[in-house]
Amino acid sequence: MEFGKFGGQFVGGPVLDAVKDVEKAYDTYKHDEDFLNEFKFYLKNYANRPSLLYYAKNLTEHFGGAKIYLKREDLNHTGAHKINNVLGQALLAKRMGKKKLIAETGAGQHGVATATAAALFGMECEIHMGYVDVLKQSLNVYRMELLGAKVVAVHDGLKTLKEAVDSALVQWSKELDTTFYLLGSAVGPHPFPTMVRDFQKIIGEEIEQQIIEVEQKLPDYVIACVGGGSNAIGAFYQFIDQPSVKLIGVEAAGKGIDTKEHAATMTLGKEAVIHGMNTICLVEEDGEISPVYSISAGLDYPGVGPEHAYLKDINRVTYVSATDEEAVSAFELLSRLEGIIPAIESSHALVEAFKLAKTLDKDKIIVVNLSGRGDKDVKQVARYRNYELVD
Ligand SMILES: *Cc1c(COP(=O)(O)O)cnc(C)c1O
Repeated sequence: MEFGKFGGQFVGGPVLDAVKDVEKAYDTYKHDEDFLNEFKFYLKNYANRPSLLYYAKNLTEHFGGAKIYLKREDLNHTGAHKINNVLGQALLAKRMGKKKLIAETGAGQHGVATATAAALFGMECEIHMGYVDVLKQSLNVYRMELLGAKVVAVHDGLKTLKEAVDSALVQWSKELDTTFYLLGSAVGPHPFPTMVRDFQKIIGEEIEQQIIEVEQKLPDYVIACVGGGSNAIGAFYQFIDQPSVKLIGVEAAGKGIDTKEHAATMTLGKEAVIHGMNTICLVEEDGEISPVYSISAGLDYPGVGPEHAYLKDINRVTYVSATDEEAVSAFELLSRLEGIIPAIESSHALVEAFKLAKTLDKDKIIVVNLSGRGDKDVKQVARYRNYELVD
């Protein structure tokens, strides 16, 4: 396995062959200067990197403790860290001679990011989405279509993300020669977790450089939210061998970890195989994968990337959780005090930073990875607060 006992390639048949092809290609291109330079070019000239490291002075003064810095992934083109990964994988797909990108999407964020990369590189794009999600997220469906993607509504089972993954995999297995499956987080069979981490590790590399430039030292804490784990592993990876930097991942506790409505995989999950990898997963007593819930679509996942399962196992990263209510309060506070509306996913990381900041001395430094912007979440938070919207 790639990460202690976690990771692996738990897929069979033609999909395994296709995954092996991706592995072989990535093993080559990850050392290819030309490929890496092309990736860097698009990160800079298309995604708008490096993203800012912003000192949140008002927030820091509000809590009266540690200095709080925000890594502004929300300022990337398309408004989140996801663009880093889709650019990397789409470029690899092109190098492999593929003409088409296929992906699943839940709320639509990964679908929109994939459709963006496909538009940029002139590739065909097909996004599978559960019919329930299609209805809930019609604006994102339109956005994908605007970007040139074909959106396939999936009518099987509960008609949500799980069925969308199955449907996309079936379609992929029919057109392996021409099509690349573009995974949205640091999950799935090897090499996807490693590859997605490599495409996201720029976040932590920039944090290190930027904080040393202004503070002449490393941060004491780096905090990120964890759904599948791509923004978190991207923020953490540079610091894993620097033990003075404490790393904290924050999962969604939804309505509370003592209820059934949460997505606190690391806190309450068990070792299991899901989506082609051995990792930690929320499972029922009969071994079925648990239904999960969070106010935040991006954190609503019953598994987690295998590298996180490993980092927990070796006690290098601490995993905690934040409830919907706490996340909404952090969403409101950052908006009010800094004029920055964060993604509801990123707000989970803010919750932990705020709790910690109060307890720490003023010479300590916390960096929060602000994984995305919150425009997409404003309507839902308004509803949560019973604010009357006309449309
Ligand atoms: C998708 C998403 C996440 C969750 O995904 P990870 O792979 O865990 O990073 C977090 N924040 C934002 C803004 C997202 O769009």
